Amino acid sequence: MQSIEHIRYISTNRHLPGTGFSEEVSFRQALFDGLAPDGGLYMPTTAPTLSSDEIVQFSGLSYSEVAFRILTKFLAEELALEVLEEICAAAYDFPILIETLDRETSLLYLDRGPTASFKDFAARFMALTMNAMKEKDELITVLVATSGDTGSAVGEAFCGMEGFRVVILYPEQEVSHIQRAQLERIGENVQTLRVDGQFDDCQRLVKQAFLDQNLASLNLTSSNSINVGRILPQIVYYFFGWANLAREGDQLIFSVPSGNFGNSLGCEFARRMGLPVERLILAVNDNDEFPQFLSSGAYISLSPSRQCISNAMNVGNPSNLARYFDLYEGHLFPDGTVGQTPELSAMKENLWSASISDEETRRTITRTFEQYNIMLDPHGAVGLAALQRYREKGFKGQAIVLETAHPGKFPDTVSSILGQSVEAPPSLVHMMKRPPSSDRLSCDYEQFRQYLLDQP
Ligand SMILES: *Cc1c(COP(=O)(O)O)cnc(C)c1O
Repeated sequence: MQSIEHIRYISTNRHLPGTGFSEEVSFRQALFDGLAPDGGLYMPTTAPTLSSDEIVQFSGLSYSEVAFRILTKFLAEELALEVLEEICAAAYDFPILIETLDRETSLLYLDRGPTASFKDFAARFMALTMNAMKEKDELITVLVATSGDTGSAVGEAFCGMEGFRVVILYPEQEVSHIQRAQLERIGENVQTLRVDGQFDDCQRLVKQAFLDQNLASLNLTSSNSINVGRILPQIVYYFFGWANLAREGDQLIFSVPSGNFGNSLGCEFARRMGLPVERLILAVNDNDEFPQFLSSGAYISLSPSRQCISNAMNVGNPSNLARYFDLYEGHLFPDGTVGQTPELSAMKENLWSASISDEETRRTITRTFEQYNIMLDPHGAVGLAALQRYREKGFKGQAIVLETAHPGKFPDTVSSILGQSVEAPPSLVHMMKRPPSSDRLSCDYEQFRQYLLDQP
């Protein structure tokens, strides 16, 4: 019944004359490399396809079973099926809820994992897969620069896993107090560094460590969304949402609150694999470089990025845009310079994008609460507002909006908008009972290197 396709991973920079890495590597290598040797992002050579029968049959299956059936298509050559099945069951043991707002609009809640954001879906799968694929006696150091949600998701996913040390860097001034509490209460094999700087500084320190030959013995790896191991599990919930709401022949619209564009990329792959997607809406905050690009054809990244209340989406040059360019026959350099403009008309057929201001985000949170008694977090609110904008343009159709975090992760923001207190998700209540621990770091690379070498 299962057809196994031969899938390899290639760099988005493979075409670059002289410097491009043109080899095809295994998933395992792409997973542990993080970035390709030429600084490009790994892409699967092909998208495996599912028949409409296979997709329709997902209806009624558990999330972990759907995950297993989809991820098998990518990994059957590299992981034993029983192992993959166990990974999916262990990774997805929390509820995934769907709530209907009106006849045409539903919310898909991806916020019930251990750290209450959708980042749990990819982080848990990636940690378990790395654990299954690594050499037995190897000690691996996972470095994560985070603007809030990635760090805690990755830290919790690796917490207590033998053979891994995780070092998280976060900008002290740029995260909500709940996010900070989460980052500092993981413990065991996970160390948290409060960096006296911005998210960009954290990312710079991590990048520098990767290039540092003195750290070769630490087996550094990255779990930021540049890692293709984080993209594959994000394909699954689009199929799951569709199968629970649609019937054969239906096309659905997905609206995805977006920052680095890794989440939405899962939907782009899902469509290429056969999921009937009418339109993928990339909902962004004031960081509007992508909607500007779609309308003008000229890509101009923003630096520094604009600060908005949907803080996980304050990204002025989305790292996964290079993958979108690649899928549409273009090329984008990591610094945001365009090498080859992608096929804009094909892009516009599948993608739509809108920039939502903080004011509109607040209004959407208020309106949704008044109308449906549903509390959105600021990121999900950007997603719903973008869908509403899309409909104002005259487009019709049934839609799913992704709720990417629990409102209880942003209690100050949400309670000041609604004028009432916001309940914390159960996983956070549990976590707050643990003692906090973190170390302080300046933006100085030498100090960071010493820290990595000193404390195995
Ligand atoms: C990370 C994050 C996003 C943005 O996702 P990308 O994959 O970077 O586009 C949106 N919402 C929340 C709550 C997040 O943590």
